Amino acid sequence: MLEAASALGLPAQLVGEPIAQIGSQDMGWPQWQALHAACLAAYADPSIAGIIITHGTDTAEETALLLDLTLPAGKPVVLVGAMRPADAVGSDGLRNLANGVRVASDVQAAGRGVMVVMGDAVFAAVDVRKAATANIDAFKGFPRASLARVTPSSLTWFGPPHRAEEAAIGRARYDWPKALPRVAILTAGAGMDAEPVKALLGIGCKGIVLAGMGQGNAPSVVLDALEAAAKAGVPVVRSARVDEGMVDRNVEVDDDARGFVAARALGPAKARVLLMVLLANGISDARAVQAAFDGV
Ligand code: ASP
Repeated sequence: MLEAASALGLPAQLVGEPIAQIGSQDMGWPQWQALHAACLAAYADPSIAGIIITHGTDTAEETALLLDLTLPAGKPVVLVGAMRPADAVGSDGLRNLANGVRVASDVQAAGRGVMVVMGDAVFAAVDVRKAATANIDAFKGFPRASLARVTPSSLTWFGPPHRAEEAAIGRARYDWPKALPRVAILTAGAGMDAEPVKALLGIGCKGIVLAGMGQGNAPSVVLDALEAAAKAGVPVVRSARVDEGMVDRNVEVDDDARGFVAARALGPAKARVLLMVLLANGISDARAVQAAFDGV
């Protein structure tokens, strides 16, 4: 891929470092640690202007947000993937890589933190999600649809860097975790009872993300069990199983009374990543967790 991309005459010199050759469904703590360490080393190397991570698409949004929360926002970090295998007709891998090079080598890419480049669009880590199983335009952004449009020969940003102030400070928002606490996603379904909540607490979950119906809702018995968990010190974040939209506080569920956190624009997978990072940084109080979800 590096040779093929280098041969395209892109405005960058590419050097590569293998981290893991796995399906991204198997990404986890050891791979994330290695990836984070490699990114920090590249950050510290003045000869490197930007970082491109080739990554499977299934968990790209999780890795992107984890790195976005734990790396400084200065040098651009770009995740690229492929929806079609390299030997498929109309494979998109090389084009996404070429687009990623275009973005990572652009002077205006700094101060935007971690981005995902797929389907000729550039997404911020906080906004991006995989929204389709099989299309080359499977990635979508919310609430910002995208930050830029890109092709191998052009790049159009739609606004100034959204993390410029943090980039100037030069520090990551959160410390890299020493370990990741067990945080589970519980998907709500009509007619379910409270037993799954009890089971999650029984295996020692330190936090629960509800992938709720509608605006992060669940049957009353489930909300009651989650309220008991929250009041016993296990943070509960309400997100939505619906593909897109805000989950705001106190709309239909009384978050103030129940002690819940509203995930705002983050879907369940990214809400879990943020909650793990917060807990690993000693942040578990519902108000402080909510402030982090509001500010991400
Ligand atoms: N399951 C694969 C992965 O996420 C799909 C892909 O390569 O995009 O690694």
